[in-house]
Amino acid sequence: MTKPPPEPYLPFARPSITEREKAAVIEVLDSGWLTTGARTKAFEEAFAAKVGSGHAIALNSATAALHLALEALGVGPQHEVIVPTWTFAASAEVAAYLGARPILVDIDAGTLNATPELIAAAITPRTRAVVVVHVAGRPMAMDRLGELLAGTGVAVVEDAAHAFPSIVGGFGGRYAGTFGSAGAYSFYATKTITTGEGGMLVTDDRAIADRVRLMSLHGISRTAWNRYAAAGSWSYEIEDVGFKYNMTDVAAALGLVQLDRAEELLAARRAIAAAYTACFHASSIVDLVETPTDEPDGSHAWHLYVLRLDLGRLTIGRGEVIDALKTRGIGTSVHFIPLHLHPYYRRRWGYRPADLPIAAREFERVISLPIWPGMTERDIERVVEGLVATVGAARR
Ligand SMILES: *Cc1c(COP(=O)(O)O)cnc(C)c1O
Repeated sequence: MTKPPPEPYLPFARPSITEREKAAVIEVLDSGWLTTGARTKAFEEAFAAKVGSGHAIALNSATAALHLALEALGVGPQHEVIVPTWTFAASAEVAAYLGARPILVDIDAGTLNATPELIAAAITPRTRAVVVVHVAGRPMAMDRLGELLAGTGVAVVEDAAHAFPSIVGGFGGRYAGTFGSAGAYSFYATKTITTGEGGMLVTDDRAIADRVRLMSLHGISRTAWNRYAAAGSWSYEIEDVGFKYNMTDVAAALGLVQLDRAEELLAARRAIAAAYTACFHASSIVDLVETPTDEPDGSHAWHLYVLRLDLGRLTIGRGEVIDALKTRGIGTSVHFIPLHLHPYYRRRWGYRPADLPIAAREFERVISLPIWPGMTERDIERVVEGLVATVGAARR
């Protein structure tokens, strides 16, 4: 008997691109205008309308949005910026760009989000801002955070890179990313909607919006982007030393279609999450894994599905489970390696693993499973089968 051919590699993430995205991009390519222009403006307006924000500024990454938000808040070398350790490099490095000190805080073991209490306890007279991360797309308790920060002068910047579209519970349908002085969304290739690379800063504060716009394009006057258009002017003034963070119309065209499909894409992710959870709960490894939960009154964007292993009952570790799934042609990932475990934070700021013990402990047992629109029932089944076989065989 010959073995059946192996099934194709199942990637950890894969963008959902339809004929509509392709047509929109080709239209831009044919238009003769590839950089920031009419498509970018339309994307900004549509995004602001979707999340109900006063201003939306399209940028080339969420990292740029976070950087410009802190810059607009006046963050400098005299300041501290509070950041959860359970996040990607971007959330904290932007404070360091401005010379500020990142102060890392631990997380709640249940949600993997920092808590308002942990954030409030890290405030010092030098604290200028806190970067809130809605991990995996599960919104943090913004009501409680607002209460604890009231009167402190500490600004909130939301890293909503995972959290489009997440609703924060208790506010009648308000989107994560619209609570802080500014919010940053990511359209990186693996995120819930994508422009390849891209980001959006939203704010209700006109002064922040004006500053971000200025600094996003070399610190030159607001209309600089159209200086080569018929209606544009050759003249411009450099007001400050800015950055090159603008979004292209090619990316924005992609983003407009993805934005229009956001609810469809969310429904697909939600269905995959529900299928995983149901399968694990019905499986023989139900006591060996912990499935992620949604907020009772909020809505999860399900950017990530983070499964946790009960290592005390297993003879193998998370790394071996990942390797076993890889052997079966299944891609997974880990979100996150806590910032305080990385060489830079250990060396520059003296962090030790035990300083933020919950994050250090949870890191050992998390696996992010594939969750992307377009996954088939068979794809989901393969992931579950792979985990049940691997974890089941390693029962202590
Ligand atoms: C992806 C990500 C970012 C950065 O987004 P870019 O658009 O790639 O700059 C920031 N924070 C978190 C939590 C992310 O996962």
